[in-house]
Amino acid sequence: MRVDLRAYWHGIILIGAPGAGKGTQAVLLSKALGVIHISSGDLFRENISGGTPLGKLAKSYIDRGDLVPDDVTIGMVKDRLSQPDCAAGFILDGFPRTVPQADALAEVLESLNKRVTVAPYIRVRDTMLLERLTHRWTCRGCGAVFGAMSLPPRDGCKQDVCDGELYRRPDDNPETQRKRIEVYLKNTAPLIDYYRSKGLLEEISGEHTVEHVHRLMMDAIRKSVGLG
Ligand code: AMP
Repeated sequence: MRVDLRAYWHGIILIGAPGAGKGTQAVLLSKALGVIHISSGDLFRENISGGTPLGKLAKSYIDRGDLVPDDVTIGMVKDRLSQPDCAAGFILDGFPRTVPQADALAEVLESLNKRVTVAPYIRVRDTMLLERLTHRWTCRGCGAVFGAMSLPPRDGCKQDVCDGELYRRPDDNPETQRKRIEVYLKNTAPLIDYYRSKGLLEEISGEHTVEHVHRLMMDAIRKSVGLG
């Protein structure tokens, strides 16, 4: 029996190191489930392109591969979650990245009488992460990511109707890549135990094709709503 997962409210938190495939999987899940995909990194990059005070503040941290301070990041994501397009649920990609951010998220959701429904953790070996980040191209138009697993189209992005230019993210340079993985291990990896202890973690190998990982994700989500 095929169950329409769009009938469910989804509070999905994607956990994984930089290069694990969170952004790619979030786009696919968003289409499959009909809920919004929120990437904290994209929110920062939009603020940087728009020259906002938040963007100016965030840029120095992002360029170094450091985390933007919790109070700034939490405020930005809280504002985004309060918008009407989040009412049906959301897929968070890149947030939370620290335990205080995870606590803040739980508090916001509790005040709305909602909760995180599942936290898929996309596991990928460090050597493969570096390889992927080194070959990563991002679309300026829709944010789609191309790289080691899917060669970039030579004439720009061709996702659906997007025809955006492909570029290399400035923080994908070798020095910043290493720093971001270090920061992940120190600040974000503790979230694996955090969500495991709440019975919300679903560990998924991210070392398969994009389509295979997507199927594993959908199985994990089905399980989280009691259909697994
Ligand atoms: P991403 O696009 O998720 O790789 O994020 C790019 C950069 O934005 C990160 O390296 C951080 O500098 C910053 N950033 C994104 N999300 C967060 C977060 N939840 N907390 C702190 N900094 C973040």
